[in-house]
This record gives sequence, C-alpha cells and structure tokens, in this order.
Amino acid sequence: MSSLAETAAYDVRAVRADFPILGETVNGHPLIYLDSAATSQKPFVVLDAERMFLEHANAAVHRGAHTLAAEATDTFEDARADVARFVGAAPENIVWTSGATAALNLVAYSIGNVSVGAAHGADAAASPYALHPGDEIVVTEAEHHANLIPWQQLAARTSAVLRHIPVHDDGTLDLDAAADLIGERTRIVAFSHVSNVLGIVNPVAHLVALAKDAGALTVLDACQSAPHLALDLPALGVDLAAFSGHKMLGPYGIGVLYGRSEVLDALPPVLTGGSMVTTVTLDHAEFLPAPQKFEAGTQPVSQAVGLAAAVQYLAGLGMDAVHARERLLERRLRDGLREIPGIRLLGDTADPSVERIGLCAFEVDGVHAHDAGQVLDDHGIAVRVGHHCAQPLHRRFGMTASVRASTSVFTTEAEIDTLLDAVSGVRSFFGVGR
Ligand code: PMP
Repeated sequence: MSSLAETAAYDVRAVRADFPILGETVNGHPLIYLDSAATSQKPFVVLDAERMFLEHANAAVHRGAHTLAAEATDTFEDARADVARFVGAAPENIVWTSGATAALNLVAYSIGNVSVGAAHGADAAASPYALHPGDEIVVTEAEHHANLIPWQQLAARTSAVLRHIPVHDDGTLDLDAAADLIGERTRIVAFSHVSNVLGIVNPVAHLVALAKDAGALTVLDACQSAPHLALDLPALGVDLAAFSGHKMLGPYGIGVLYGRSEVLDALPPVLTGGSMVTTVTLDHAEFLPAPQKFEAGTQPVSQAVGLAAAVQYLAGLGMDAVHARERLLERRLRDGLREIPGIRLLGDTADPSVERIGLCAFEVDGVHAHDAGQVLDDHGIAVRVGHHCAQPLHRRFGMTASVRASTSVFTTEAEIDTLLDAVSGVRSFFGVGR
C-alpha cells in the first residue's frame, strides 16, 4: 500500500451522519451494521438523488422527444459516464444490468448462444468466443455461486470442461496450480477480485497474464472490490467485469457489466426487444452497438442515477482513504478474533503482503453460525451467517457455515471492539468450552 494510502483519511463521524439507518436501534442497542458485504447501507445523497430524479425529472429515456425525456436521457447517460469514470472505463464499456448475477449470466448465456450457433454452422464472425466440446473454463474454488453456476451451466450446454484453481489453507489461491491449469484448452478464466468469504484481494494481473498467454477470455467478479478499492478495470487488463450497485452504497436493482469494446462488440445480445434496435421488420432486427444492444427493455433509470451518486460519494471520500481505513479495521478485527479462544478464521494468514478488505469469516467452536449470529443480534450487531453463497469454499475448509463480519466506510473501531466483546461471550452463553 502506498504511503499516501496509509495517511489518507476522512472524518468517520461526518460519514456516519450521512447514513440515516445508523440512527436505528436493534434489540435495544444502537445498530452495529457489519453486513455490508451482503448489502451496503445507503447515504442520504443516494436516497436523495433517486428521489429528486423521480420527483422532478422522471421520464422514459432514449424514447420520447419531449423536454423531460431528453433531460432524463442526459441524466441517465451522465450516470453511465460517472460510473465508467469510477472504474477507469469509457461509457460505452459500461452495460447496465440488474446486478452482478445478471451481468455474469449475460456473459455466460451470450457465449453459450454463440457456441450453440457455431455448432449449427451459424455466423462465423460472431464466434471468436464460441466454446467447443473439450474447451476449458477455469474458475477458483473461492467463487460466489454467481460466478460459478453460470459457468457450470455454460459448460453443460457446450460440453466444455469446468476446472478450478484450488485455495491454500491460508485462503490464497494456489498459483502453481493456476499455472498448470490454464493452458491451450482454456477459453475462459472467471475469478473474483476479492472473495466474499476470505476478503483477500486476488492477484488479478498475474491471473490475467496467465489467461492472456493461453488466449483465454478473463471475467472478473468485482462485487467485493468495487466498494472498497480504487478500481481501474482497463489497467487490470480484464476483458469483462461485473459488480452490483447495492453493495457499493447504491440502489438495488442495478449492476454493471464492464467489457472491452472488442469483446462487447463480438458478443451477441441475450435479451432482445425494445431499446436495443435500429431497424425492425416482421422477420428481422438490426441491433444497436454496445452497450445498448445488451439493454433490452425499459432501463433502470433512477437506479443508475442513485448509483452515480454512490460512486461520487465514494470518490469524494477517496478510494485510497476508504481502503486504508478498512485495512486498519480489518487488522483490528482479525487480530481481535485470533485472540478469542475457540474462534477459527477461514483462510487466515499472518502474511502482511496478503491484501484484504474489511471482512472476516469465522466459526465459533461448538456453536452453529446461526446461533452465534443470534447472540450477536441480541447486542444489535448485524452479521451474515451461513455459507454466503460459497458452499464449495466452506466445504474446502470443512465447514457448512460461518459467521461473517464486514465493514463499510462508516464502521468505527468502537464497533469492532463491541463485536469482539460479544463474540468472546458466545461460547460461554451456550455453555461450550468451559
Ligand atoms: N459475487 C460476489 C463476490 C458477491 O459477494 C455477490 C453478492 N453476495 C455476488 C457475486 C452477486 O451479487 P448480486 O446478488 O448483487 O447479483
């Protein structure tokens, strides 16, 4: 981390005042929200942006000629430009989707459709990404189901083979295995930037280099990095990336598929209908170029406006400052959990070179994650319990469920300490480990 990042800071108290939900009490305690990896809370600026748009500027975009519709279209496209800038991209490389799951499925279905078409002798121009039987798709053992199941389905549709990069005991990826796995049969390498269970920042450049050498397409799941790290997707060199608005202080129902122009141009649309066409006859349709060709139907306009407000808010804090602060909180959380008897962290390592976001998943010896979560909830502390949509990773660590605490821009040291106190009491509450 740069020395700039170490020293960059923002006023956490001022930030807390921006989040109305932090005024809530839960079970008689002030809410301590440590579940931002599941969904983030929203600052006033995001709520206000959506509301202001709906109250004063709402109209269907890219359709009507009336003044309000033209203004709404400009606002909608400005939002795309804002989100593009946040990830170092150009607006035409940003496709609106309903979330990361939709974005990842869009890619998998588009490639699947091309592959099935190629198998039937369809348009060769659309087929640089077509899969053939025996081609390989590589994922990691740590993927969220959203970046695993679409590839399983794609493999099944195309008779491709799905392979995975294993995870070491310390949670890092087995890069030797990755180098062995990614080879001339590999057509797609799909992996998360940051695992939603381990919180570890994966070595994107390294994996992209392996994939490029093999001539494979790279798909990055940036759901857990976009809210926490300064992102420059073109500089990372990935072909495609997905993230969700609701995890980065923005609204529900909006996500992004980022794609390099060459890739977006070559992939066919999945959903078809209004808003994505030029000329339509009774038996034929011409499609608009990307991104519009992937945005069939009425667009998520107020959601895009809200997401633009969210990225402006994050950019205003400074993503280096956000990450530096999260690193501090993460260390306090991890070090504190390590000291509590009976706590086992998933993918723990003392190696300081392992980059992380503010997220720890752990199990409490002898206590089911759901029971532990219940005790924390009694203290007003919201954490996630379960498999966090990463069953294979939990199985790899010999677990079915864990407790996950995840921080956000408003999380304080005192909140971490309250969580640690509450976790310390969980085993004795259940009469375990006496
Ligand atoms: N990938 C990761 C790493 C995630 O954490 C999530 C959300 N838990 C997703 C994908 C799916 O995001 P969404 O549910 O917003 O589509």
